[in-house]
Amino acid sequence: MKWVNHIAIAGATCAIWKPELVPIAVLGSTAPDWLEWVLKACGRRVAHRTLTHYVIYWVLGIVFGMFVWDFHYAITAFSAGGFSHVFADSLTLMGVPLGWWSDRRFNLFGGRLRTGQMGEYWVTGVIVVMCISVGVMTRHFDGGDYTPFFWDYPDYYHQGLIDGAEWKENRFRWL
Ligand SMILES: [Zn+2]
Repeated sequence: MKWVNHIAIAGATCAIWKPELVPIAVLGSTAPDWLEWVLKACGRRVAHRTLTHYVIYWVLGIVFGMFVWDFHYAITAFSAGGFSHVFADSLTLMGVPLGWWSDRRFNLFGGRLRTGQMGEYWVTGVIVVMCISVGVMTRHFDGGDYTPFFWDYPDYYHQGLIDGAEWKENRFRWL
């Protein structure tokens, strides 16, 4: 799957949870791919979608972050980002391996998607729209400090920073 979609999925889901962790989740959401380059740079050859795409590693990362030790949820957010990557990859034809014990890859929902084709943009779009809906529904309009998405146009509006027209124009924009 393309990075833009990995980033959008992780960013949108993380924005609902903790907006301030979006950069870390985004970093994690691309990690399974860039970790391959890091390992390569260290002289270790890794075939694409093997070691760094083991679903179990990312799940363990989340569990570790949640139950063992974490620093401001950074490990959890990073691992969750990585998990969203392998999850999304599992929707594609190529699939992902569950762990080191498995030389088979598995696919979810029949692995219908092919990288770079429209399907993955549709899946990403649906997830992002769902996240925005949840964000809007759970939003605290009373001026609480919780912000599901980065653009806080209604608040800017109230603070008189932008005029009504600008807010109207941007209220559905988030990329
Ligand atoms: Zn990948």
